[in-house]
Order: sequence, then C-alpha cells, then structure tokens
Amino acid sequence: TTKEWNQLRKMLPQWVEESRRHCFDGKVASYIPELSKAPIEALGIHILDGRGNAVSAGDCGLSFTMQSISKVFTLILALIDNGEEAVFSKVGMEPTGDNFNSMLKLELVQPGIPFNPLINAGAIAISSLIAGESSLDKSARVLRFFQLLAGNDSLDYDYDVYRSESETANLNRSMGYLLKDNGVLEGDVEDVLDVYFRHCSISVTCSDLAKMALVLASNGKDPLSGKQLIPRRYVQIAKTFMTTCGMYNASGEFAIQVGLPAKSGVSGGILTMLPGRYGIGLVGPSLNRKGNSIAGVELLQKLSQQLDWSLF
Ligand code: GLU
Repeated sequence: TTKEWNQLRKMLPQWVEESRRHCFDGKVASYIPELSKAPIEALGIHILDGRGNAVSAGDCGLSFTMQSISKVFTLILALIDNGEEAVFSKVGMEPTGDNFNSMLKLELVQPGIPFNPLINAGAIAISSLIAGESSLDKSARVLRFFQLLAGNDSLDYDYDVYRSESETANLNRSMGYLLKDNGVLEGDVEDVLDVYFRHCSISVTCSDLAKMALVLASNGKDPLSGKQLIPRRYVQIAKTFMTTCGMYNASGEFAIQVGLPAKSGVSGGILTMLPGRYGIGLVGPSLNRKGNSIAGVELLQKLSQQLDWSLF
C-alpha cells in the first residue's frame, strides 16, 4: 500500500542505522579465507515490489557472494531438470538440528541421503543433479538461470572467493566422497564439487537478491515482464524449505521473530520476501553465533514487528 511505502521510505534509513550497531557483537566468516576481507560494519537492504517500487538503505552498493543463498535456486533448477521424484530420492525434506556442514547423519541415518537440500551435503547432492554435458556446462546453466531470475546479465563469479573456497574445502570434499560412497552422487566427485563452489561464489548486490526474491514472492512469475520463470509448485517447495531450514539452526527462532521464508549465507547475505508483495535482499557480513547476519536479523525483526509482516 502507499501508506506502507511511505513509512518504509521514511523509516528504513533509521532502522538500518539502529540495527547496524549490532555489527560489532558478531564476526565475519573466516573459514573461507577470502570472506574475512568483508567490512564488519556494513549493512544494506533493498526492497522491491511487483510494480517496480523500490527502496534501499545502508550499504547497498556492496557486492558479496551468494554462498548458501544459491542453494535455493540450484534446488529449483534441479527440480526443473529432473522432477520432484528424482530429486527427493537423493535428498530429504527435514531440518537437521545439526550444523550446515555436518556429515554426522550421513553415516548414522540410513540410507545416508542428506536430510534436506539447504545443508551443504544436500546442496552438493543437488549440484550433481543439474543437467549438462560437463561440469562447466552445468555451471554455465546455473549462472544463466540466476541471471534470468535477477534480470541481470552481468552476474558473474567472484573468482577470488571461488579459489579460496575450493582450496580450503576439506570438509565439503570429505562430504562429497562420503556421498559418492553412499550412492547419492552421480559422476566425478571433484566435478560435482566444482559446480557447488562456483554457484556459492556468484557475486550479487542486495538489489539482485531482491529481484530473485520477488520472483519467488510472485509464485515464479516475473511481475515486471509477466513471464512465468519457475513452475509454481517448485516455488512452493523452495519457500517451504526456506521456512523450515533457511536460517541454519535458528530457523525456528527466525520463524517466531520474523515469520518470513528466508535464506542466509556465510557472506552475510539474506534473501527474504513477503509473499505476494515484496522481494527483499540484505547484506551484513558480521554473523551471529548461528551463522546469520547479526544486524540483518535485527533489522528484519524490526521490519516484521513494525509493519506486521509475519505470515503466522
Ligand atoms: N560455500 C559455503 C560452504 O560450503 C556455503 C556455506 C553457507 O553459506 O552456509 O561452506
């Protein structure tokens, strides 16, 4: 509504500055060495609706890598390529309660398939389901799909982050080989991992994320062009996973405090939406103990409470 847009335009800069104070209570991710270069005090947000209204505040010019946020969209592409039945023979539909990079249950719980597509093991399994002749071909399809959803043909990899992750990913590599042994992965493990590292390192801004989120908020249709980019059913699946597993082990708390489908990544990005209304992209590289943007979660709580956004 016009009233809400007026309030957003008026209040957003102040809410960003209030939330930004929490940055120093968190830490920038450093297990991927290149990510530790991100500015700890940054916070930016972009909100977009289907009529082309937009508002942004804070450090919206900052580029950052999608990291785990990309998992939502590789899941969708794998569903488009293979259908529901094939995808869910390789990954489950349940939250884990474990860390995003845990491989505990891959050994403990038979038949050794990842619990869901948003933890690392699940996303690596999903990478092996992307159609393509070679790993480079698969990665090119992923990148083109992301460009289409973001309406931005210049989306590309951050090669420094890509190399940095690929060189240090001992845990993800072990997971890949375990999955191969469990019969979950097709093809060469290093090729599958390369597809995964590349999609995690696609570089975006808040407005790219907001645009991608708006497509999900509009049930797969790009409201600006009117084109159906994703089948509605696959958007429904993606939004459900975002609600149950999108914010790591804080997904339950986030559902209570904010009440929107969302996906975060270790670079401090969060993609979220108010279904039927807004796509939202946010970045704040300083993370809380659960691995979510500390100031970003604060800001979303404020927005949700002030504007009564919770879906529940
Ligand atoms: N590329 C990161 C990793 O595999 C993604 C993790 C994340 O954002 O949660 O460790």
